[in-house]
Amino acid sequence: MSAFRWVCESTEGRARAGFLHTAHGVVPTPTFMPVGTVGTVKAMTMDAVRSTGAGIVLGNTYHLMLRPGAEKVRALGGLHRFMDWKGPILTDSGGFQVMSLGALRKLDQDGVTFASHIDGSKHRLTPERSTDIQHALDATITMCFDECPALPAPVEAIEASMRLSMRWAARSREAFARREGYGQFGIVQGGTELGLRAESVRALTDIGFEGYAVGGLAVGEGQALMFATLDGTVPLMPEGAPRYLMGVGTPDDLLGAVERGIDMFDCVMPTRAGRTARAYTERGTLNLRNARHALDTRPLSPDCDCLACTRHDRAYLHHLFRANEMLGPMLLTWHNLAYYQRLMRGIRAAIVAGDLAGHAGRLRAGWASDDWTPDEMPYPDLPPVP
Ligand SMILES: [Zn+2]
Repeated sequence: MSAFRWVCESTEGRARAGFLHTAHGVVPTPTFMPVGTVGTVKAMTMDAVRSTGAGIVLGNTYHLMLRPGAEKVRALGGLHRFMDWKGPILTDSGGFQVMSLGALRKLDQDGVTFASHIDGSKHRLTPERSTDIQHALDATITMCFDECPALPAPVEAIEASMRLSMRWAARSREAFARREGYGQFGIVQGGTELGLRAESVRALTDIGFEGYAVGGLAVGEGQALMFATLDGTVPLMPEGAPRYLMGVGTPDDLLGAVERGIDMFDCVMPTRAGRTARAYTERGTLNLRNARHALDTRPLSPDCDCLACTRHDRAYLHHLFRANEMLGPMLLTWHNLAYYQRLMRGIRAAIVAGDLAGHAGRLRAGWASDDWTPDEMPYPDLPPVP
């Protein structure tokens, strides 16, 4: 079994292509991690997730500790066996979900007490408990338990929250059981205050982790401020460790963050959008509920090899959503995850080839082209959909 490490293959500007080596396999980076909240990537079989080229998936401590319970997952052989995913799994710490419970939670210096959203039962998470739960789940990558304030917030509140998170990071590290091929990531906090971000990076690198995440972004600050925060933060992060931007984002967010030196992403966007008839493509987004698709026999995307695009046309996908058939969300989730994986593979290949700048320009032009209007028929020579 090999040590947990990230190896750089090539760089272009601040963008990096590399390989993440773990106990559960090697993942090329930059990579997008589909979100498997409750031990399932919603509406997908794990074979379908694998078929899109995903190399690592995410699980949620908060959800799994409440149902079925971390000890149950451990008794059932760990999360890999439980959900049929042999590759690496990253688990979040539960901090973000607990903080978003609002009135249902009570924060103190030691941890958080909260009421389950399922049955109202009382639970408590501390850095130690969160780390133990992630161990019980057999997470390949364990995240530090942290606190993340909603933005905008007063600077004093962001500062106090960041310092609390750094004390919790030290306790999370203390509680982490080191195993060959397993890693733990510290989470940089500090809102959009670059001075606080720099202090947070210093605190985490003093403790020392196998990887570093940027947390507390994509919480309402907007893309420009998010990119500005990355510009001021990522160059301070250790070069030899993987960098993970939590909870981001749209295809355009991912591209911009890779250009700023980020290696790993997770987001519910492609899966959630898929369940609500929204498709991401090389030419922007489409709403399959829209009536203009009712008689459209073109595939969703001619560039995509997913089941939705190779076996069905837009008229059928439209029909499925209008009829509230569960196959609609299944096919569109599949397509969106296939698109996100293809996007990351393309970006990675461009970095290796030294053509990220050109590739990024073509991607952005495609998203902005808006040539999906039925009158334009961007590819009239396609053979009929089988
Ligand atoms: Zn597709």
